[in-house]
Amino acid sequence: MNCTLLENANLAQYCSMKTGGNAKYVALPKNEEELIYAISFFHRCNEKYVVVGNCSNLLFTDDGFDGGVIILTAMRGISFKDGIITANCGESLSALAKCALDNGVTGMEFCYGIPGTVGGAIYMNAGAYGGEICQCFIKGRFLDESLNIVTLSNEELDFSYRNSLLQRKNLLFLSGEFKGESGDKAAIRARMDELMSARKSKQPLEYPSCGSTFKRPPNNFAGALIEQCGLKGYTIGGAQVSEKHAGFVINIGNATSADVLNLMDYVTATVLEKTGVKLEPEIRVIR
Ligand SMILES: Cc1cc2nc3c(=O)[nH]c(=O)nc-3n(C[C@H](O)[C@H](O)[C@H](O)COP(=O)(O)OP(=O)(O)OC[C@H]3O[C@@H](n4cnc5c(N)ncnc54)[C@H](O)[C@@H]3O)c2cc1C
Repeated sequence: MNCTLLENANLAQYCSMKTGGNAKYVALPKNEEELIYAISFFHRCNEKYVVVGNCSNLLFTDDGFDGGVIILTAMRGISFKDGIITANCGESLSALAKCALDNGVTGMEFCYGIPGTVGGAIYMNAGAYGGEICQCFIKGRFLDESLNIVTLSNEELDFSYRNSLLQRKNLLFLSGEFKGESGDKAAIRARMDELMSARKSKQPLEYPSCGSTFKRPPNNFAGALIEQCGLKGYTIGGAQVSEKHAGFVINIGNATSADVLNLMDYVTATVLEKTGVKLEPEIRVIR
């Protein structure tokens, strides 16, 4: 067994916000055998652990994580057969979109440019521009708390807006099957390019962030409400409400996770006071 295990590893290097303290251990499994080995190791050592993807939607606090962080980005692998794409948990969403393009499958263009893994997308029910991962997910293999592999269908995952069963049950997504409709490759490519241009022109991709900080409130947009409250550019330490897109909190320098969390609290309180809308964070905080 050869699962890479780092001790006292800095978490900021893995996180898209580029903040967070150190983890006692970071494990980087390359396959399911190594993942099970890493989990068993943490069980044996009586260490708590958390399993993450590309850390593009989460913050570790500045105290770091007193246990094991299992990062799944090396668990890649994607294939296409009989109209179905099978992807492993650590594969990127952009690779899923590219595999669909290569095989003339439409319906996954929205995944292009979301910087997470397929596993993180199933956990979050990631989506953009009218698409959501639940629209193309058929079924997946999951690891339960007793380290048994179970198969769950789309219906069993109980997807809703930025939510799935995984947020309520201790289940790890290992791999899954995805399906779209057959489509014209040139049209699929054009849609992917269009969505990427929209991202580049509207989102502050030049700064570290976790994407949209808050979920979309019913019949509204978090960014519009934040802008309406005059918070564009509001800064605490190295964390700032982006001038380009108020829905993003960005790291403009040496932000700490505390800066980001304090800014999120300030924005939530101000928006509630001025508009009556209670914003819910989309970013997950791991303590
Ligand atoms: C610039 C930018 C743009 C973004 N745009 C979008 C967008 O358009 N739409 C959108 O939905 N999101 C967007 N995001 C947020 C983020 O990319 C998505 O939420 C993505 O799905 C998270 O995937 P991840 O692998 O990074 O998950 P992580 O951030 O690593 O983890 C998120 C959660 O999922 C859990 N998790 C991860 N992998 C697994 C697994 N295999 N099994 C069980 N649980 C798991 C983790 O424990 C954690 O609680 C954006 C982020 C950035 C930085």
